[in-house]
Formats: sequence, C-alpha cells, structure tokens
Amino acid sequence: AGETIETDVVIVGAGPCGLFAVFELGLLDIRAHVVDILPKVGGQCAELYPEKPIYDIPGFPLVTGQALVDNLIEQIKPFSPTFHLNQMIESLEPIGTPEAPRFRVRTDAGTVFETKTVMVAAGGGSFLPKKPPIPGIDSYENTSVFYAVRKMEAFRGREILIVGGGDSALDWTLNLQPIAKRVTLMHRRDDFRAAPHSVEQMRALVASGEMDLKIGQVTGLKGDGTTLEAVVCRDTANEAFEIGCNTLLPFFGLTMKLGPIADWGLNLHENLIPADTEKFETNVPGIFAIGDINTYPGKLKLILSGFHEGALAAQKVHRYVYPEKRLTFQYTTSSTSLQKKLGVA
Ligand code: FAD
Repeated sequence: AGETIETDVVIVGAGPCGLFAVFELGLLDIRAHVVDILPKVGGQCAELYPEKPIYDIPGFPLVTGQALVDNLIEQIKPFSPTFHLNQMIESLEPIGTPEAPRFRVRTDAGTVFETKTVMVAAGGGSFLPKKPPIPGIDSYENTSVFYAVRKMEAFRGREILIVGGGDSALDWTLNLQPIAKRVTLMHRRDDFRAAPHSVEQMRALVASGEMDLKIGQVTGLKGDGTTLEAVVCRDTANEAFEIGCNTLLPFFGLTMKLGPIADWGLNLHENLIPADTEKFETNVPGIFAIGDINTYPGKLKLILSGFHEGALAAQKVHRYVYPEKRLTFQYTTSSTSLQKKLGVA
C-alpha cells in the first residue's frame, strides 16, 4: 500500500514479449512499469524451459530460454524499466475516456498505478499455485496458509511447516529458517527435485538441529478455522502424527490459468484476448494485447510474432501518450536520436 504510481504504460507480464515491448516503447520515449506474478522475469522461457535450446529466434541459430531472457534484459537496460515482481495484477478499472484513456491498475501486493495505457503480455495467463487437497484449507488462506512468500518479514517469529520437494520449497526453507521461530520441511519421500546445493544446505541445518525434516503427507488442519495450531500428517507407514505450527506453506508447483484478466471488461475468445492486427489493441481503447495471450486470424504462438506485435502496439501507445507529437519512422542503424536513447551515440 502507499502512493499511486503515475505512468504511461503498465505491462502485464515479464515474458519475452513484455520485455521486448519495453524496448520498442523506450525508443518512442515511453517508460514502462512491468509487473509479473513470478519472482523472476522471462515468463515461460525462464519458468518452463530455461535450459532448452530455441532454434527459431531470428538471428540466433540457437539460444536457450534463459539466454534469450538475459539478452532481452541487456537490450532493454537503456530504458531502465521498473519491475514489480512477485505481484499479480488483480484489477483494472477505466477512469478516462476512449479518446484520452486512463486506467487504475492494482496488484495483490497493494501497488496502485494510474496509467494512460496497458499492455497485456500475460502469455498463458497467471501461473497459479496448485493447492493441496486438504479439507477446509480455504478458510486458513492468507492468515495461516500461504502459497507464495510476498514479504519475508511477515513470517518472522512464526512456526512454519513448508511442504514440497522442489526448488520453491527448499529455497523458502533456507530463506525463512533464520527469521522463523522454527521451520519444519515435509516431503512425501526422502528425495528432492530441488537443486542439490540447496538440499545439502537443508540437510546440514537438520543435522545441526536448527530445523526439522519430516517424511509424510498432510491430511488435515487443526485450529479455529483461521488460526492454525497444528497440521495432521501421515507417514509412509500410514501412521498419523501431528506437527505443531501456526503457518503452512505448501509448494506443489504452478498451473497456468487465465486468472483475474477475465474480469477486466475485455472481450475474450477461448481464454484469449482478440486484438486487431494493425496496433494490437483490444476492444477497450488504450488496452493492448501482445504475445501468447492475444488472438487474431492467422495468429502463431511464437516469440517472434510477439516481438512484432509489441513494435506495432508501441506506435499506437505513442499516440495516446503524446497526442500532439508526430511520429517519424527511423532505423536504429542510422538515427542518432535513437542511438542517443540507447546510449551508444
Ligand atoms: P509468457 O512467456 O507466458 O509470459 C507471460 C507472463 O505474464 C508470465 O510470466 C506470467 O506470470 C505473467 N502474468 C500473467 N498474468 C499476470 C497478471 N495478472 N499479473 C502479473 N503477471 C501476469 N516459442 C518459440 O517461438 N519457439 C520455440 O522454440 C518455443 N519453444 C517452447 C517450448 C516450450 C516447452 C514452451 C512451453 C513454449 C515454447 N515456445 C516457443 C512458446 C513461447 O515460450 C511463448 O510463445 C512465449 O513465452 C510467449 O511469451 P509471452 O511474453 O507472450 O508470455
């Protein structure tokens, strides 16, 4: 919570298409704020296939998902975009007119933007946490049960049970252990998918008695319906046991769902946002859709298509942001004005 951030464009999603849009907007003197639910930039490339080679990025015969993201970050550095990671854009409310659009945009972390335009580059939608099938878990959510750590401080002094065997479970175990009252990690078997180095660090903390490791599964919750007192578990021999704790952090992976975008007043077609192919604007003037989230006749869900879409959308964003200025077409190779913006002239 706090003050409202005034800006020209809010980009929803820091996948490859949202990142490259920062570049195209930057060349037109439009500064961007970029919001992503994930704790890191790069969308599907960084989250789903960082080490896989991509073979169809123009000019790169082979580049891995993560290397593409790293290069995009390098390329947009001159425009110093502001990233708001670990936050989901929840609501988008029009507060202007179709000629002079303006939107109030809010994230689930309490950040509020007032912006002239919005570029939805949300890919397959939100990566949402998979919830464990524990009866009554809903009523404990956001008081005792959390699927993501937004602010570490909120967990200081808590008795925490972390469940899972992947990188999120191990990373948060290691990060929260120093500030929590006590951390217990539980996984269904004594074998972890997480990075070996994190697993070693966790085992060292267990060996020195600074945290606990249990093997088993959660079957129920004990408490008053909002404040947790203990978690009921079952071990591999089906014996029940309890872990006293006031905080449960299950990390069971992510699935992709459209999420809150469905409520923003945009036309939708099979969970995609129809856009025109001249400026990639949606049915709401001032809201653009680029990358995997949009649809139009002939659409291909390729990264290179999303790059093109961002370039064209930026032209129309310019009209909203600088209604009095005429835009002249320029090449980065020959325009000293563009080169100045890139810091190379
Ligand atoms: P994404 O990469 O999906 O990023 C969208 C981002 O938006 C996400 O980070 C998400 O967290 C965020 N977001 C969503 N909703 C919100 C919200 N409400 N608030 C805040 N943030 C939000 N393409 C190719 O061109 N060549 C290939 O070889 C290729 N190989 C692939 C291999 C695999 C295994 C996969 C899964 C995909 C592959 N693709 C390939 C497809 C390519 O990854 C996508 O086309 C590309 O990632 C789309 O980029 P994007 O920026 O539109 O969306």
